[in-house]
Amino acid sequence: MGPRAIPRGARRLTPLWHPSDNFGPRRDGAVPDIVVLHYTAMASAEGARDWLCHPDSGVSAHYVIGRRGSVWQLVREDMRAWHAGLGAWGSVGEVNSRSIGIEIANTGAEPFPEPQMTALEALLAGILQRWCIPPERVIGHSDMTPGRKIDPGPRLDWARLARRGLAISARPAAPGDFHADAHRVGYRVEAGRQDALLAAFRDRFRPGARGPLDETDRSLMAGLAATYPAACTGPPFSETSSRQRRRACLRREYFRRREARGAALSASLVQKYLGGELAHSAKRGQRPPLPLRVPR
Ligand SMILES: [Zn+2]
Repeated sequence: MGPRAIPRGARRLTPLWHPSDNFGPRRDGAVPDIVVLHYTAMASAEGARDWLCHPDSGVSAHYVIGRRGSVWQLVREDMRAWHAGLGAWGSVGEVNSRSIGIEIANTGAEPFPEPQMTALEALLAGILQRWCIPPERVIGHSDMTPGRKIDPGPRLDWARLARRGLAISARPAAPGDFHADAHRVGYRVEAGRQDALLAAFRDRFRPGARGPLDETDRSLMAGLAATYPAACTGPPFSETSSRQRRRACLRREYFRRREARGAALSASLVQKYLGGELAHSAKRGQRPPLPLRVPR
């Protein structure tokens, strides 16, 4: 699955490097194919950032976005940050190894200011492109832990992200079984916890809706299940396509770095990014059989 539309005019983003020690390698060599959005639930972005870097906190995220649009990067994207905790999405039960976590400075009771949304869009656009992540894999913390976490809450403008190809919106379809459809979309909620599921779903796809489960909820969830069913009909991506995606991403990274440096990379990096066979031909000065234009 290739990268989707990137917002026109999205500014280039250079996050401020503010390293946290709270990270480790991704398990089993996993690469990220989910993005999880959070809010910090703290008054100060710097306070949240520093807590996510504090050795006692045991938590971290890849990025923190301040209210005025500052973006700090705490953990390298290829590393496993500790933001997702318990929870699951589709076939992914260990979300930290498979995701990139973004903490947005917000208490949960305030709007997300324009500069912050603009920064979030630029950051998301880059992440989705770098890792070939489709917009349906951008989720909220509450989506993967209904009933336990409520961030990023109903005030986050998901519809705006969806219009820019950075998330998805729900289109109505013939109403079906709400819980079964939710399961097909990726929600992992026991049958008895329908209230938590409904709250998480509405926060994201029907902000402001109140009352018991209704036909509109069923219709929108059915629409999501029909359009984005991949998340729970078995693994989201087959073993083969997962490997292909990883290779595609590594190749992309190779060309990005080569362009950035304007020179050949070391043999070990070529080996890392292109793998044995391709590294061999690159070493012999052959042009690797790959597209040379780096998608931007
Ligand atoms: Zn969270």
